[in-house]
Amino acid sequence: MSDIENQMKEAVKKILKDKSVDVVIGYQMGSLPLRAVPVAIKSAEEVDKLVWNSFCEANLANYIMKRKTDEKAMRERTRGDKPPWERIGVTAKSHDIRSIVALGLENQFNLENIVIIGLPCPGIIDRKKIDKELDGKEILEGSVSNDTIKIKGKDFEKTFPKKDFIFDSCKAHLPFDSSVCDVVIGELPDQVIDDDFADIIEFEKKTPDERWEYFKEELKDCIRCYACRNVCPMCYCHECFVDASQPLWFGKTTDINDTIIYHIVRAIHLAGRCVNCGACTRACPMGINIRLLNRKMAKTVKERYGFETGVKKEEPAPMATHKLDDPQEFIMDKEVE
Ligand code: SF4
Ligand code: SF4
Ligand code: SF4
Repeated sequence: MSDIENQMKEAVKKILKDKSVDVVIGYQMGSLPLRAVPVAIKSAEEVDKLVWNSFCEANLANYIMKRKTDEKAMRERTRGDKPPWERIGVTAKSHDIRSIVALGLENQFNLENIVIIGLPCPGIIDRKKIDKELDGKEILEGSVSNDTIKIKGKDFEKTFPKKDFIFDSCKAHLPFDSSVCDVVIGELPDQVIDDDFADIIEFEKKTPDERWEYFKEELKDCIRCYACRNVCPMCYCHECFVDASQPLWFGKTTDINDTIIYHIVRAIHLAGRCVNCGACTRACPMGINIRLLNRKMAKTVKERYGFETGVKKEEPAPMATHKLDDPQEFIMDKEVE
């Protein structure tokens, strides 16, 4: 067990014992190899279930949202003498922290009721990359150290360098400020690190036709299962535009035109809101990398409004506010100008 994991358990025990929280959402090992799954811990006795390792993939901001809508828990609380809202602790890596802050800013929950236990991201393993190397062979056991991943199957054992098998979203520069955390374990950056958007700057060098071709090629296999939307912490609308029938915003086919409309409209909805967690790309059964489109929107919002999602607790999202001196040049008539 790592030192970080031990410190995390002590911190969780402390906030449960002193009743600063009712529940802590974290990870426990799953029943399949190379997997950790979310778990809700309600007492100090359960804390030993918790783990912190390179399998802690899910964005736990989603699980805070799920508890908010857990009617059974709400009924239990309103029958007792506790307030109907919970105080929730969460063990969180940088992407999860940014999602939590962004959702708090959008008033999806009161950030004062959330205790963020910030931990350094260990680099999350991309199982699809490992599966590709194994060519369909079943993994029966797996473990990871600082530098290597060890895999065992029925008739084979393999060791992979960890750095080549972590998610691309873990490698990206991430704007992040640890001062939003209530408890910090290990070393987190203590000031905002800038995202240099190097991948997007490279992509912008393509001509408009080349970019269009890129997206058409990338999206041609999309089966419109909406897993990318369902797993996204920022896609929480009670009625998504894709499910509406009155008005019907676009056709329900998998024709490339309908598919592109879905992705463009969703990208616009996520402008200034996507936290670059990569959950959408991980969830896609067709291996489509949709993060690029969302990152392009993030770069535009940063350039226009100087805003990066989920970095500061106090800074309202540009799409949720307006300033009197906003240029608004997109509605100006060029003739009049
Ligand atoms: S669009 Fe994808 S990368 Fe952005 S917040 Fe949603 S799941 Fe995360
Ligand atoms: S795609 Fe748009 S409408 Fe649908 S859930 Fe996401 S933000 Fe809401
Ligand atoms: S998860 Fe993949 S296949 Fe499903 S709608 Fe999103 S991009 Fe298309």
